[in-house]
Amino acid sequence: MTKVMVTGAGGFIGHHLVGYLVSKGYHVRGVDIKRPEYEGSKAHEFMELDLRNWDNCLKATEGVDEVYALAADMGGMGFISANNARILRNNALINLNTIHAAQENKVKRYLYTSSACVYPEHKQTEANVVPLKESDAYPAHPQDAYGWEKLISERLCLYYAEDCEMETRIVRFHNIFGPLGTWDGGREKVPAAICRKVALAKLYGNSEIEIWGDGEQTRSFCYIDDCIDGLYRLMRSDCKVPINLGQDRMVTINELAAMVSYIAGVKLRIKHIEGPIGVRGRNSDNTLLRKTLEWEPVISLEVGMQRTFAWIEEQVRSRENAK
Ligand code: NAD
Repeated sequence: MTKVMVTGAGGFIGHHLVGYLVSKGYHVRGVDIKRPEYEGSKAHEFMELDLRNWDNCLKATEGVDEVYALAADMGGMGFISANNARILRNNALINLNTIHAAQENKVKRYLYTSSACVYPEHKQTEANVVPLKESDAYPAHPQDAYGWEKLISERLCLYYAEDCEMETRIVRFHNIFGPLGTWDGGREKVPAAICRKVALAKLYGNSEIEIWGDGEQTRSFCYIDDCIDGLYRLMRSDCKVPINLGQDRMVTINELAAMVSYIAGVKLRIKHIEGPIGVRGRNSDNTLLRKTLEWEPVISLEVGMQRTFAWIEEQVRSRENAK
């Protein structure tokens, strides 16, 4: 039985990935500083470890064939733009230690989860942006420390693959969303934040929600089941270079809010307020994804948002009822 280790197994994507790998017949070790928030982990073993620490990384990778490296100190734009030093330090420590421990423990395959935040700010100044292809990452100029660290850790993977006998895979996610993700507390991403605001407005009969900026900034959003499917396909593929994983359908944040209101069956006004909005526009160019994996995400934004809203509405109702 192949033994795989998932770091960040207490987080949104890592938790979904653990369940998927268990269902595929792998022996799964989950590692995180915390357990999953909303339901128990299906991992055969779960180690609560801080991966900034070298000894913990050695323990975590011992006896493991493959590693999916998802652990990161991260959140939505509000968190990322206000915590540059912390993010760079914590994530660099996690990634430097985890990959080196994996190599010491003779791990065969190592998949690193990077982000669309690696792309240069000057290529994302228009809402109607040209989709970003992998080679656009250089010359480098990411917006925040989060993106700079991802870029360095991508290179780390490429160098370990060159210098050591370890296969590495690198994925650049574009806005993954779905049930069981953080929806409150300051680290939530825009789809979850909008679902929470709409659910609260519906519950209390309010007619307005707030959105950061003018809402005309654009993004593409990828549903979690597609993300997990793509991650697994990438690990099994021969692709040695960084690759985008996302949808290539771009929407404005105002359109996303209107979609969620429609799903919730309520009519809401949007009040635009000051707040960190990140880059003006971002979309994924999926040419390499289609060519390399002969696959691309299939779940529509409407279907994904329906499932996500249903889950977040349930969370909001049970929290408000418990007050
Ligand atoms: P998440 O915050 O839900 O999960 C990350 C997990 O890492 C958390 O459970 C956290 O406790 C854990 N972690 C943080 N510091 C740690 C430490 N010192 N030791 C051990 N564990 C630690 O985030 P996610 O959305 O599941 O993202 C997973 C990966 O994908 C991350 O690397 C993230 O940067 C990347 N990514 C995610 C998105 C997205 O849209 N969700 C987009 C781009 C990239």
